[in-house]
Amino acid sequence: MATLEIKNLHVAIEDKEILKGVDMTINTGEIHAIMGPNGTGKSTLSAAIMGNPNYTVTEGEVLFDGKNVLELDVDERARLGLFLAMQYPSEIPGITNAEFLRAAINAKRGEADKISVMEFIKKLDQNMELLSMKEEMAERYLNEGFSGGEKKRNEILQLLMLEPTFAILDEIDSGLDIDALKVVAKGVNSMRGDKFGALIITHYQRLLDYITPDVVHIMMDGRVVKTGGAELAKRLETEGYVNIAAELGIEYVEEV
Ligand code: ADP
Ligand code: MG
Repeated sequence: MATLEIKNLHVAIEDKEILKGVDMTINTGEIHAIMGPNGTGKSTLSAAIMGNPNYTVTEGEVLFDGKNVLELDVDERARLGLFLAMQYPSEIPGITNAEFLRAAINAKRGEADKISVMEFIKKLDQNMELLSMKEEMAERYLNEGFSGGEKKRNEILQLLMLEPTFAILDEIDSGLDIDALKVVAKGVNSMRGDKFGALIITHYQRLLDYITPDVVHIMMDGRVVKTGGAELAKRLETEGYVNIAAELGIEYVEEV
């Protein structure tokens, strides 16, 4: 079993404190969901865990099996087994999807343990089939001209190919129609097991109808304000953030 521990994490963007002390422990075998209104710091949390240099950790720790993640470079974090599916994946013209995936797998495995071309193609075919992706997607430039749904599906393809220990999926459901949502859920559910843990960030409950979380955290204004089981997400669906905020005595103005 592996553990990802987030301890009293404070994160600032350009001197503005966004995360105000987040605590969370994720073990492999578990799927956690973070739900929260827009602008509460969900993407900030994922960026800080992955080491985006625009986000400054001012206090607290992130530990992977006790190892301090915050002192590692982004690529070292990936090699350690952390993966982030981004809310807004970048387009990289000039590198095909397949080339990118193979380079990423090899970077993670290291020089001595490179994936063979045969093994790579087999794995790619299997995973693309699981995600109902057209074969031509492998030879297209990374994310270039991909629709919103194709980008998200492609992030899940990266997840399945890289097989990280911990994945953070930032709003992987945004802009997806129901069929694409089911495919994304199928991909994530196929990773479930003793060797994998995930943190699923979402604004809406919908995705969690297809990926049942073990733990649900509600985040507001840079803090985890409530933690519960899958039923907490269901409650949010019927009651909305307003009622939960009111119950906790937190000021919250709903976006219109
Ligand atoms: P969420 O993912 O929960 O919607 P974010 O983590 O993206 O929230 O943003 C948290 C807060 O940080 C928001 O108030 C947002 O306006 C602010 N923020 C994000 N990026 C920047 C930036 N580059 N400069 C200043 N503030 C930012
Ligand atoms: Mg976000």
